[in-house]
Amino acid sequence: MNPFKERKNILDAIGKITRLTFSTDEKAADVMKTCPGCGEKYGTGELAAAKYVCPSCGQYISMTAYERVSQIADEGSFREFNKARTGYDPIDFPGYEKKIQKMRKDTGLKEAVVTGSCTIGGEKAVLCVMDKRFMMASMGTAVGEKVFLAFEYAVKKKLPIVIFTASGGARMQEGIMALMQMARTSAAAARHDEAGLLYIAVMTDPTTGGVTASFASLADITIAEKGALIGFAGQRVIEQTIGEELPEGFQRADFQLEKGFVDMVAGRPELKDTIARILFIHGRRRH
Ligand SMILES: [Zn+2]
Repeated sequence: MNPFKERKNILDAIGKITRLTFSTDEKAADVMKTCPGCGEKYGTGELAAAKYVCPSCGQYISMTAYERVSQIADEGSFREFNKARTGYDPIDFPGYEKKIQKMRKDTGLKEAVVTGSCTIGGEKAVLCVMDKRFMMASMGTAVGEKVFLAFEYAVKKKLPIVIFTASGGARMQEGIMALMQMARTSAAAARHDEAGLLYIAVMTDPTTGGVTASFASLADITIAEKGALIGFAGQRVIEQTIGEELPEGFQRADFQLEKGFVDMVAGRPELKDTIARILFIHGRRRH
C-alpha cells in the first residue's frame, strides 16, 4: 500500500470521533480455571459466586473483562460500545498482525479493553474494563480510541465513568501512535472532568507503564484492588537504575496507599458495593 495513503488513513481514523455501535450483554464463556495458589479447579459459575476469590485458599483468580463486567454491572444492564473496533499496524511491526490474530482467536476479543454503559447498584455509569490476556492489555490505537470514545459518551450523557485498569503500558508494536494515546486519553479525561463529572479508576493487577502515566492516574477517586501491582517502570529496572534494593511490597496496593498514590484499597468482594456507594453519593449531590 502507498505509505502516504496509509498514514493518511490512520490520521483520519484517529482524528475522527466515530459513531458508537452497541451490543448487549456478552456472557462470560464457561471455562474451568485453576487457582494459581492451591491448584484447585473451578467452573465459571462456582467462581463467579465466590467473586473470583479462591474458596479454599483465598487467592484472587484472574478475571476476563466480561467476567469483571458481570461482577460489577447490574445483571443485564451492560450495553457494549464498539465491540468490533480494531487498531492499526502503523509501523509494520514484524509479526504484529499475526500475533493480534492469535490473540483474537485465544480470547474472543477484538482488542484489550471492553467499554460500555450499565448500571452499578442502580446508578447509571460508563464502564471500561481492560483484559490483560490480550497482549498484557497494552494500549495501542484501538484501546486509546475505545477509552476516548467511552469518555466522550460519558460527557455527552452526563454520566460518571468507572475504568478498571490493568496494563503492561503502551503497545510498543504501534510505536509513536501508541504513545500518542496517552495524550489522547488524558485529554478525554480532562474534558470529562471539566464537565464536572465523576471518574473512578480501579487499578487492578498489574497497572503499569503508559496507562498508569495517563488516564489511570487521572481519576477523581482511585481505588486499588487488594494486592495489585501498580507502578510505572518495573521493580528490577528501578533497582538497576538507582543501584539500591527496594523494600518488600514495593508497588503493591497497600504500599501505594501508604505513599498517597491511590485513595483506597478495596478487596474484590466489596468492590461493587464500594463503587455503587461512591456513585450514589456523587449522584445525589448533583441533583
Ligand atoms: Zn486456591
